[in-house]
Amino acid sequence: MKQPYVFNIQKYSIHDGQGIRTTFFFKGCPLSCQWCHNPESQRGGIELMFYHERCVGCGSCVLACPQHANVLGDGRVNMNRSVCTACGSCVDVCLPNARELVGRAYTVDELAREAEKDQMFYEESGGGVTLSGGEVMVQDMDYIEEFCRRLYRKGYSVNIDTCGYAPYENFQRLAPYVDTFLYDIKLMDPEEHKRFVGTDNQLILENLIRLSADGARLNIRIPTVNGVNATEKFMQDVIDFLLDNHIRVTAVNLLPYHNTGKSKYANLDRTYADEMLRVPDQEQMERFQTMFINNGFVNTKIGG
Ligand code: SF4
Ligand code: SF4
Repeated sequence: MKQPYVFNIQKYSIHDGQGIRTTFFFKGCPLSCQWCHNPESQRGGIELMFYHERCVGCGSCVLACPQHANVLGDGRVNMNRSVCTACGSCVDVCLPNARELVGRAYTVDELAREAEKDQMFYEESGGGVTLSGGEVMVQDMDYIEEFCRRLYRKGYSVNIDTCGYAPYENFQRLAPYVDTFLYDIKLMDPEEHKRFVGTDNQLILENLIRLSADGARLNIRIPTVNGVNATEKFMQDVIDFLLDNHIRVTAVNLLPYHNTGKSKYANLDRTYADEMLRVPDQEQMERFQTMFINNGFVNTKIGG
């Protein structure tokens, strides 16, 4: 069983399904959404975050790096990421904490123990545990299935937050343990999907139809981005798709885009293509919400 890397364990989450939840964020995603606010989730391996603004130019990381990835010049450090192995030696010597490794491997036992710590909150709030990412459904499925099975046998509600881009067999394996799938729809046009997300959407929509036919509880989540999909046409296309395919939806969440992840791109020395991405205004969001409600999706909310 290959241990996936977890990059965040979010306690007391109220945006990842019903009640108070513990959310585990797994590293690695088959998509590359241009608006992704967790760029550290996209790649599967451990990565180094470099908070440039904290660097005082002491040069300790230059001496510590076995790969000679860091070069000091003009009082600041430049880093050659192509040779970085994420060994962490520079993290240990950086006193201003300008460096941090993202991602840690846990055994199933360790993760289950983390989940158990908040059992009292699940019971009091009707919450549970959410697996998110990155993408859960492309991790080692022996590992994920065993984790879900443990949670299920403890009596916890298990939610899976997914982009839907994974073999359907993976969904079938987890379905017996899962209370609700939080299922993203980002774009309906395959070409636009490819442009903004990196793949077309055929597998995603097929999996959604199959999950619904197999009786899964589905909470549809729509990241709503001005400049990408915040249009009445797109929302109507989603509504038509859900109705035409008789998708059994328990809730719809319209998630307004925000750019709070922007600084993380700089910390990973990646470019953030935000010129075309804009935050939708409240009036727009309410219009979209009304469209869903008027088409029978009465449990439609703005936000998570
Ligand atoms: S050890 Fe930290 S503070 Fe010192 S040069 Fe390297 S990144 Fe900057
Ligand atoms: S994580 Fe390791 S290889 Fe990468 S820059 Fe730091 S010391 Fe060098």
